[in-house]
Amino acid sequence: DENPEYNVPMAVKDAVFSKVPTEPLAGKLHLVCASDDALTEILDLDPAVAETEEFINFVAGSYLPEGGLTVSHRYGGYQFGHWADQLGDGRAHILGEYVNSKGESWQPQLKGSGETPYSRFGDGRAVLRSSIREMVASEACYYLGMPTTRAAALVVSDDHKVWRDKTYSGRARQERAAIVMRLARAWYRIGSLEILVKRKEPHTLKTLVDFIIKHHFPEIEKSEGDKYVKWYSEVAHRNLDMVATWQGVGFTHGVLNTDNVSLLGLTIDYGPYGFIDHYYHHYVPNTSDDIGRYAFNRQPEILVWNLNKLAEAMEPILSEQQKQEIKDIQATLEDYVKTKVLKTYLLKLGLKEIKDGDEKFVEDLLEMMQLKMADFTATFRQLAEVRPQELTDKSVLETKWSLKKLSEAPNWDKWAQQYSIRLNKENLSEDERIAQMIKVNPVYVPRNWILEEAIKDAENNDFEKVRHLMKIFKNPYEVDEEAEKRGYSAQPPSWSYGLKLSCSS
Ligand code: AMP
Ligand code: MG
Ligand code: MG
Repeated sequence: DENPEYNVPMAVKDAVFSKVPTEPLAGKLHLVCASDDALTEILDLDPAVAETEEFINFVAGSYLPEGGLTVSHRYGGYQFGHWADQLGDGRAHILGEYVNSKGESWQPQLKGSGETPYSRFGDGRAVLRSSIREMVASEACYYLGMPTTRAAALVVSDDHKVWRDKTYSGRARQERAAIVMRLARAWYRIGSLEILVKRKEPHTLKTLVDFIIKHHFPEIEKSEGDKYVKWYSEVAHRNLDMVATWQGVGFTHGVLNTDNVSLLGLTIDYGPYGFIDHYYHHYVPNTSDDIGRYAFNRQPEILVWNLNKLAEAMEPILSEQQKQEIKDIQATLEDYVKTKVLKTYLLKLGLKEIKDGDEKFVEDLLEMMQLKMADFTATFRQLAEVRPQELTDKSVLETKWSLKKLSEAPNWDKWAQQYSIRLNKENLSEDERIAQMIKVNPVYVPRNWILEEAIKDAENNDFEKVRHLMKIFKNPYEVDEEAEKRGYSAQPPSWSYGLKLSCSS
């Protein structure tokens, strides 16, 4: 559409997508980094392509494949518990659908690619720092075993600048605009359905749910029986399985509004997220979350809250019988996720089955970690690296900085003894135990301070650190020499203590 008035914020009616062209990044462009695996495994591209001008311009939104059409998705959402009405892709364009050589259908999306009918007060752009955070985390989280959207490449402009309020003091400044090419099988959220209910568009709601099931849940489409009930159950359990993976790596999303909860059960929208350094159960990375609605320990219950909203959004297309069946499923979700999270922690401790007293056993550990400010990632990793009988051996603990802190807790010896006994019952050889624990306890996670350092360099067009992060997070379970030199698995520097993120992005 050539109409310059096309991309104005507006209340869109009875639609799921709006056709809207990208607004390419202007000025001199740089490739900040790319994900070799995303390019090869998802898009069938040779990673060398990423350095070409053609590819960089493509990520910058400059052109489409022939016959291509870009769309922005309309959705609404509950933000911090309140209905916020129409939100939508305010700065993202879906480039279409790519069926790869494996026969998988993917939807590449640009984020930061200009205004859309859903931009509201925003400028349709994204700045470099938040784009780096999204790029690195999307790929790192994938390798950390979280179901997630992916990211293929990140491009920044030297000259295209936007105003942002970066500092906590509220001083505005100009920052460089960037675009991330994200990848997902589809981008639907709970809010995709909610907007259609709130705006009284039940016909479109039914069309959309039927479409999503048909195209993205073919096993449900083909199965006998009630597809809406089955679909609800599937979406709910996928999301709860997802949040259990978050709890297992200390990931706190930061903005768990219903527009940020995927109907495919993917971690979506990496904004003011944070990985826990020293353990604190009520960790809140987002500066605008005053009461800690989305604190680390509240994530499972918040997901359940969001899934209740999904059930509410489906109501207009459900029979009384279906509503009742979904209510019955809802009644089981809290217990389901509680068990799933407990199992996740036990697995991190090398324990396969839940036994009597395990809940308290894990709670006791987390409590000691909080008391002694032991590091979440390092503690679990270091538990994998010592023998049970060494848990109270001072000379061994001396070599494990986080365990050393933990071992100063008053109840440590008692807990360590319990752990030793508990491990004995597993009938695992020492090598097997270590191998299992290493697989679920990473050495590296994208800690905020590590990202901050990489971002600082990238602001000066030095992308070495960002690219190195992309490399180490391909295998976050393996020690990397350079990462060790940079202190990525050591005690975080004191300046990073209490580091928080604003929503400004
Ligand atoms: P988020 O909190 O990141 O989930 O974003 C909430 C909503 O704000 C979404 O609809 C985004 O598309 C929109 N949004 C965020 N930043 C911008 C921006 N710079 N321009 C336009 N829309 C934006
Ligand atoms: Mg969002
Ligand atoms: Mg966001």
